[in-house]
Parts: sequence; structure tokens; C-alpha cells
Amino acid sequence: MNVLKFGGTSVGTVESLRHVKQIVESLPRETVVVVSALGGLTDTLIATALKASEGGEWRAEMDRISKRHHDIIDTLVEEERKTETLSKVDSLLGELSRTYEGVSLIGDLPQKILDLIVSMGERMSAPIVAGIVKGARLHDSLEFIKTEKWFDKNIADGALTHDLIQKEFSCLGDGPHITGGFISQDRDSGEITNLGRGGSDYTAALIAAALDAEMLEIWTDVDGFMTADPRIIKDAKVLPSMSFVESMELCSFGAKVIYPPTIYPVFHKNIPIRILNTFNPTAKGTLISDVSDSYEYPVKGVTAINKTCLVCLSGNFTENVAQVNTRAYNALARNGISVFLLAQPGENHEFSFAISSSDRIQASKVLNEEFAPELIDGMLTGITLTDSLSTVAVVGEGLKVMKGINGRVANTLKRNGINPLACSEGNSETTISFVVEEKDSVRAIESIHGLFFRTNV
Ligand code: ASP
Ligand code: MG
Repeated sequence: MNVLKFGGTSVGTVESLRHVKQIVESLPRETVVVVSALGGLTDTLIATALKASEGGEWRAEMDRISKRHHDIIDTLVEEERKTETLSKVDSLLGELSRTYEGVSLIGDLPQKILDLIVSMGERMSAPIVAGIVKGARLHDSLEFIKTEKWFDKNIADGALTHDLIQKEFSCLGDGPHITGGFISQDRDSGEITNLGRGGSDYTAALIAAALDAEMLEIWTDVDGFMTADPRIIKDAKVLPSMSFVESMELCSFGAKVIYPPTIYPVFHKNIPIRILNTFNPTAKGTLISDVSDSYEYPVKGVTAINKTCLVCLSGNFTENVAQVNTRAYNALARNGISVFLLAQPGENHEFSFAISSSDRIQASKVLNEEFAPELIDGMLTGITLTDSLSTVAVVGEGLKVMKGINGRVANTLKRNGINPLACSEGNSETTISFVVEEKDSVRAIESIHGLFFRTNV
């Protein structure tokens, strides 16, 4: 059996939902389908919550949200399932409206209330899709996707979720089975949580892994994984295939195709992923598996993460570099901050690494506490954090065997007047990454994409 995930644009309009209906109805009944909220709705839910908490007008947006869901139900839901679907969705719309009212009255938006508000997207879209697809059965993902607290984040409790999914889907023959992505429930408090923005992919991967699916299909609005973001690179190409590792690297360095944690559960079970286009269902898409066609496509893509912050520790610690390094990463990890690029050490007794700008304040506090004694006795002379940067990455298993590749990348950047502030220490053989000023990010992607793809794709 296969697990399919349809993203927001695929379930966003009457037209796109007609495609989804057609695709799912043509598949075996054992199929499990995970859906996102209606396209753009999660953003709207958050923006409206913020507005309400600041005393702004929220009722008109609430009315638009209701109308959008009602229009789809009126036009597409099967007659005999209309009453049931409407009553489910109306009760959620009522709860949403009362929650906005509460937020507006108290003028505050606690995280758990925001989590409740954003959960409404998938809690409404799933019963709607189940009402549209013939014979479909609805499953409530809050019953089987469980999270636990990790610092201030919620992360999936893999073992518990795995067992609950197997129980929930023990009779697969009576489907197709529809469920909402993204949303989850805290295993201890029972509060509604989520798997992070873009998390519907991850829900689908957890289900595919627990049920030993043959394939995880991610249905989106492009023909497949591309060599770069097509909004930046007009001649970006669709790749026929890539390896799990390549897709993991591309996604963790900013490719928006799949939510990064998604790949691990299916990679672990060697379940291939196919990226497909709801609006062009006959296109072959991109197959992600344990095979890399690095002969034909040695490099798979160029991506970037904006909002990078470069942390630099400088001092007189030549002999203790490894120890300072380890202490810095451990202190950050203990506080839930991850480092995504370690820079090659500079000449002047300093070393740098990149984190997300959103972790900047917390990282500064943690490092200053960790190294307070060394800052006093002079072993460390400074901890500096620089923002408004971008991490650019080139990914491909073929990089392992390409000669002089670092030099070619460096020369291309130099020719385009871009000066990398840090280069990765080569922590992965399949990726070359470097940090540039955010204003140079697009030019860096263009020039590197040109270097690899103008002639050989
Ligand atoms: N609706 C959620 C979001 O927009 C989850 C998803 O679509 O994957 O982030
Ligand atoms: Mg997505």
C-alpha cells in the first residue's frame, strides 16, 4: 500500500480538490491519504490570531474562513455526507471563533492557544476531503500522532506514535483512509500540538514507516524536486531521481519541497518517496530512494537558508580548540539550538559556526554563561554574532569524486564579487556549504547553479 500526502495548494480550491478526488478514487482502497489545511489557511489562522491579540478586527477574516470551507462543502461533498461534514466543520468554526474572541478579550496569545488555533486547518480539511472522496474513512490524527516536550519545542514520540498508527490502521481494506497532517497531541498533557510548519509531510512519513508502505507519495504543485528554487532560477530543472541523503541535505539546507524531518523515518525503512504534481498527475515526478544516479547528475541542486547567524569565538585557545568547540556545541544542544554549519578554522585563533537567526539571543546568553570564566581570564577574547547572512549549499553525491570542486566554486563566487564569510569544514561529503551576506544570496545561487547546470543538465 501507498501513503499519499496532498499539500495546501492541492486541497485549496474546488478545482484542485476535484483533481484530488479523481487521483484517490483511482487507487486501491488500502491507500492512506494525509492532507494539509486549505492552501494558505495556516498563515491566515496565525495572522488573524496575532491581530485579535493586538485588539484588531478579526471577525471579517473569520467570516471569510467560514465561507471558504462552506463553499467547498456545498459544491463537492457527497449529498449523503453533507450533514455529517457540515456539523463537524461548523463545530470547529464555532470553537475557532470563540477562541479568537477570547484572545481578543485578554489581549494575549499564549503558545498553547496559538497551537489550538492553527490545528483547526487540518481538523477541518480532513473531514471535508473524507466527504468528497467516495467511500473514504476519516481518521483523527490527534489519536495517534503524539508528541513530547523537548525544551520549548514539541517533538514526535516515535515509539508511541508507531504503535498507535499500527492499531489505528489495522483494517486497511475499508478505505481509502483520510487523515489530517501536521497536528498532534502532547502524550502527557493531552494538549493539542503540531509537528512544525510544513509538518504534514512528516505525519505522512510516520504513517508510511509504521505501516511498511511501499511508497510515500508527496503530491504538490510542481513537477518534482528541482535543481534550485524556480522563483529564483528561471531555468531550474526537474530531477528524475535522487538519493535519500541528497534530499535530506537539500531540504535541511532550505529546499522547501519536503519538511526535513520527513525523510528519516522512511529512509530508515528504505521506503522510496515520489514527489508528484496534483495538477499534472501523469508527469513522472522525482523518485527519492537509496540509489543515486550520480553518473548522470553528479550535483543535484543549489539551495540557501536565509536568516543565518554566524557565531565567532575568538581568543588564545590554539591548544584547546577541540575542547572549546565541544563545550560550545554541547551548551547549545542542551538548550535546543542546532548548529548547521561548522566553519573551517580561521587563521587568527577563532572559530565560527552558523545557527538560525531566530536562536541568536538565546545562543548569545548560553555561550556567555558557558564561557564566563574564560572571558574573564582572557582565554576567550570575544563572542560575536553576525546576522543578515545566508547559508548557500551545493548538494550531490557526485561531489565526492569531482576533482578541484571547492576551487571551482570559490572561483565562481570570486568572479561574481561574492566573498564567503565562512566555508563548511566538509562535515558531509555530499555537500559544500558557505555563508555569504544575505544580499548576495540570490547572486551566489545563480552563479553556482550556472556553473553546474548550464551545460550538464
Ligand atoms: N498546514 C501546515 C502548514 O501550513 C502544515 C502543512 O501544510 O504541512 O505549515
Ligand atoms: Mg509543505
